[in-house]
Formats: sequence, C-alpha cells, structure tokens
Amino acid sequence: MVNVRVSFSRMGWSYIFFKGLFHDLPGIEVVEPPLVNTEIVSEGVKVSPEFVCFPFKVILGEMINLYRNYDVKDFAMIADYGPCRAGMYGVVQKRILKNMGFKDVRMFYLRQDDFRTLEWLRIFRDLEKRTGKKFDDYKVLRNTLLFLAKAYYVERISHIEGLVRCREKNKSMTTKVVHTLMNLLDNENNLMKLSNFDRTIDENFRKIPIDKEMEPLRVCYTGEIQVMLEKWVNYDLMGELGVMGIEVHKQYDVFDWVMHKLNASKRRRRLEHSARKYIPMDCGGEAQWNMGSYLESQEKGFDGFVHIFPFTCLPEISLMGMLEAEKNMDKFYMPHIHISLDGSSGFEGLRTRIEAFHDLMVGNKKTNPLFRDAKYVVPDEVKNIYFKPKSNFEYFLSSIETPMSKVLTMLNPSKKLDVGFTVKNGLEFFSRNSFFGIGSLFNL
Ligand code: SF4
Repeated sequence: MVNVRVSFSRMGWSYIFFKGLFHDLPGIEVVEPPLVNTEIVSEGVKVSPEFVCFPFKVILGEMINLYRNYDVKDFAMIADYGPCRAGMYGVVQKRILKNMGFKDVRMFYLRQDDFRTLEWLRIFRDLEKRTGKKFDDYKVLRNTLLFLAKAYYVERISHIEGLVRCREKNKSMTTKVVHTLMNLLDNENNLMKLSNFDRTIDENFRKIPIDKEMEPLRVCYTGEIQVMLEKWVNYDLMGELGVMGIEVHKQYDVFDWVMHKLNASKRRRRLEHSARKYIPMDCGGEAQWNMGSYLESQEKGFDGFVHIFPFTCLPEISLMGMLEAEKNMDKFYMPHIHISLDGSSGFEGLRTRIEAFHDLMVGNKKTNPLFRDAKYVVPDEVKNIYFKPKSNFEYFLSSIETPMSKVLTMLNPSKKLDVGFTVKNGLEFFSRNSFFGIGSLFNL
C-alpha cells in the first residue's frame, strides 16, 4: 500500500521536532519541507487575501510548493479558537487550495487551545483513518516525547547561539556549530541518547574560541513567534545583531509556547503579571508577554529592545503603539526598535536601521541619566560552557536521567521538579480529562 505523504510548514528549525511527532508511524511518510525562498513566498502572496497576516502567505506558499513539487496532499496545521487568526489559517488555506483546483488536499489539525485537554491527540486518530492503519499507543507516546525533547533542544541551541555569536573569534563559527548540532538532533530518534544531548550541545559550543573578557551590549530580541522562527522572513536578524557584537537574548520559541499551553510556563505567568497594567489580557500574538519582556529587560539594565512582527499583525502593532506613546512607562529610557516584515523589505535598509540602533544604544548608555547602568553579568549558559564546565560526574548523573524525568524536569526552568505545581497541574489534568478515565491514560 502507498504511504500517505505528510508535511507541514518549516518554521525555521521547527521541522526537526515536527518530524519527530510523525516519526516511524505505519503508512506515514514525512516529507521534510524545503527551505523557504522568494519563489515559494510569491506563490502564497499571489493567492492570499491582501490584508491577511504575512505568515499565512508564507505557509500557503509552502503548501503550494509541496503539493506541486513534492506530491504532498496531506498537511498538518495548528488550530485553535483564537484570540489570534493563526488558529483559523488552516481552514482558510484549505479552501483556497481547493479553489485553485487542488481538490484532494487534506488538512490535519493539531488543536492547541489547551494541551492539557489532550484534544491534540486527535491528529493521530485522523491520520489512522486516512492511512487505514492503527498506530501503536507506545509509538504515539514515544513521538510525543521526541517532539518535546527535540523542541526543548532546538530552543536551547538557538538561545545559546544568540549569546555566543557576539564573542566568537572566528567569524561564522557559531553558525557552523549550530548547523552541526541541528543535523545531529534531526537524525537522533533514540530517547535515551537524546536525554544526554545537553552534553553534545556544550561540547560543540566549547569548540568555538571566544573573547572571554568582553562585556557586549545586551538586547532583548522578541516579536511574533512565526517571524522569529523563519530566517527567510526575518533576514536572520539575530545573526546580524550577533555579528555586530551584540549579545542577543531571544525570548520565545515553540517549546516555550508548548509549556505555556500546558500551563507550565512560570516565566510566561511572571511576564503576564508585569504587563497586566498595560495589556490586561492575551490579545493575540505575543503582545502581552512582549510587554512583560520589555519591562523586565529594562529592570535588568539591558541596552535595547528589538521587536519584529509581520506586516498587519494587529496585536504586535498595538504593542509598538503603546511603547512609542506611553512616556510615563519609561522609568528609565531603554531604546526600542520595531521592525515590520512582509518579505519585501530590502536587507540593506534593515541593516542601516540596526546599525543606527546600535549607535543609539551606545550613546544612550553613555549620556542618558535615566539609563540603569546595571553591572554586566555573564549569562549562566556561557559560564557553564566556557568558564566552569560540568565535571564528567555531573554529565554522568544527567546521562542516567530517563527521558521521562528529563521531560518532567523541563517543567521548571531551574530543572528541579516543582512538586506543588506538578500536583496542581496533575489534578487539573484529571478534571479536564474525566471523559478519558484513568485507565485509558495507561493505554495512551
Ligand atoms: S500574531 Fe499577528 S501575524 Fe500571527 S496570526 Fe495573530 S495577527 Fe496574524
């Protein structure tokens, strides 16, 4: 029997963990989405409503390319009930594709309103119907863990990348190490080996000779999540800032989003709390948390705030308006730059803007009496890799952790299991899923 060819949007490195989610399922052949390029995006732009969000056009272009050139007719897409439009993209895209004559397109929805309800598991049941084959429950569980573990490591690698590039002595070495690590991660599907992937990450980054004395400018790098992930859309702005000698603190990735949807992200709750005075509720995108990030970065004495978002993204445009209009909010002035992306900005124009922003940060630090000149502190991730590396024994201890305990400890950024929080979340999980019955959980 012919396998069903399934694919999804690439979203930067995110394809690595989405491949993990559908790894080795009977009747399923996962097609790796190709790198996004101008041609792919133009196809999406041609058939999209003019004022729809830019990520919609990029994803639609990817689908058209996969359908025409890779024989993919089955797509996995996220879906939810808002507050943002992203949850409805899939339904509209399917209709557009059908109107284009792609009558046999099918969309499989990964429900992401609240991952604790387990509604997202329906994607496996829908794929079973499509393939006519039953998936072993253990494979579904294994793939879920693969997804979580890989998403966690993708986030960790990208985060360290932002902190290390400004210190590298040999240009573009960070980029090479990141590509090596992402390839290793993509090809590793053994959960036991993945549980020790932290060591591989540290060892590879340690190969980069760095300037240990430097005290670089620090920026909070944030925005709408899809444009932050996809390098074709954001012109690899994070890399460009790093090359300019700026330490980049990337705020969001998909793992963080999944933790938020499991109600397990303490960081997001902290940011919500600090942003509440200005944005009292989730109004879409990352606007509320970005406001929190701005205030928190100010507190930490960062030098700037870089905010990127898609053209026509209302929540993030609202945040920009608030930051630009609200003078009293700046207890001390921190420069912020807002970049709207629609695939048609010229890279040189963008570079000129960030160079000017760099000079603004330098000037602000020297002359603005309101600037909070907090003492520079080397980030923990950099310390742990270059200044006080873990001992063999510490690596040995982490290597004997099971994948499950690894996933559980991920719930808390300090890597310690928060018992009270886990019990509370566990009780909520059972109350939300009473229709499953406890017995069915063991048959997952
Ligand atoms: S966050 Fe912005 S770009 Fe994304 S769906 Fe919402 S409005 Fe559109």
